[in-house]
Amino acid sequence: MKLSEEEKRIGKMLRGIINQATSDGQPLYPTKLRLKKMHEMTLGEVGIVEHKGKKYFEIVLNTQPSLEMTMIHALTHELGHVRQWRLDELSRDNNHDAEFGIHFAHVMRIVGEN
Ligand SMILES: [Zn+2]
Repeated sequence: MKLSEEEKRIGKMLRGIINQATSDGQPLYPTKLRLKKMHEMTLGEVGIVEHKGKKYFEIVLNTQPSLEMTMIHALTHELGHVRQWRLDELSRDNNHDAEFGIHFAHVMRIVGEN
């Protein structure tokens, strides 16, 4: 499948994020990205792929998720903020901290059940 100029630009930006998020050596294997038209209720998926005896993570992102799927994902994120919001919220250094992760995961579990 031929990628449009827009998809190439987005792919480059996404690979930059992957490089920054994996450069500390945390993941077990190198991470590769593939853009693909998938079922519209999927945002993306990840798995381990083996090629010529080498393993790597392959993240596949859907180039055409439905508006519904995109909004569910955004809602999950924002509900994570709603759940962790404190009375003195503005004194928080970083609102995408580990506490946010716990609330995000809680909402993700509910989304998965619906
Ligand atoms: Zn946020």
